[in-house]
Amino acid sequence: MDEFEIIRRYFERESSDEDVRISIGDDGAVLRPSPDRDLISVVDTLVSGIHFPQTLAAADVGYRAVVVNLSDVAAMGARPRWMTLALTLENADPAWLEDFARGLFEAADEHGMALVGGDTTRGSETVISVQIIADVDPGKAMTRAGARAGDAIYVTGTVGDAAAGLSILQSGLPKSGDVDFLVQRFTRPAARVQTGAAISEFAHAAIDLSDGLYSDLEKLLVASGVAGSLELDDIPLSPHILRLMNDDDALRFALSGGDDYELCFTADVTEEQIREVSQRVGVAITRIGEVEQGSALRCLRHGETYEYQDPGYRHFH
Ligand code: ADP
Ligand code: MG
Repeated sequence: MDEFEIIRRYFERESSDEDVRISIGDDGAVLRPSPDRDLISVVDTLVSGIHFPQTLAAADVGYRAVVVNLSDVAAMGARPRWMTLALTLENADPAWLEDFARGLFEAADEHGMALVGGDTTRGSETVISVQIIADVDPGKAMTRAGARAGDAIYVTGTVGDAAAGLSILQSGLPKSGDVDFLVQRFTRPAARVQTGAAISEFAHAAIDLSDGLYSDLEKLLVASGVAGSLELDDIPLSPHILRLMNDDDALRFALSGGDDYELCFTADVTEEQIREVSQRVGVAITRIGEVEQGSALRCLRHGETYEYQDPGYRHFH
């Protein structure tokens, strides 16, 4: 199967999006942005064996390749519009491509995004690069840089599940409802796009959690030029992770595990406002700390300072 056959068979699809003037098939895609909107461009690359295990199902690879990018779009409070796909393959396995495309379009369809172009090449390993073009009201994009001393720090959903799920995938723990839940949090992460747009009304700064809560929150604080305290007792851990391991292990996955794709943000609003947004988008939002003056992230546990050493490396990043 040659490159053109692959593109035609697996990636060319009808789209009802009238703002896609020219799609797959020409030298470039022609897209018509909405007038008076800022455009946001994000790209993320997944390398087989580094960002996902080589044994991961092709549909999950396709799904995750889109979601990791959608998560960046969510963290900017933006609306995803179009995507392109650069694909490097060792060989053109039709069964793999079919499943990969199904997973990819599943994630794209959940957010009404059309695939408008890409590149397909042969190489010595599987590398998947997805780029998304998103838009947002002028000047309204959330960034990492706006946190202010006195803000509360919030996180969406639960953290640590995906890293625990990946570790289970690799160690092959016997199946159970809790195990399935954690594994699915790795294979099928949710991009908090709606939540990102909702909190962008009031959040001062935001970041999505791809490397782990500790290091991602640290990046936000550094970008904002502030310090913060993290209440480890308040970090939302799922009942599933807590049934499979002790609190300390669950906490380690939450702080340094990564791959959660939840949002962490800072804001200065009432509890009532947070509750209202959380109910509206159907996603839990938990207060986990406070922004302070200075330049460090300290952790507190049971009311005392907790010396946390971030490992500073990632198995799958
Ligand atoms: P060129 O040689 O001009 O770079 P290509 O032959 O690489 O063009 O691609 C032909 C068309 O197919 C282009 O419109 C390109 O955007 C699209 N395309 C190539 N690979 C993919 C892919 N993996 N997914 C979606 N579109 C693709
Ligand atoms: Mg060309």
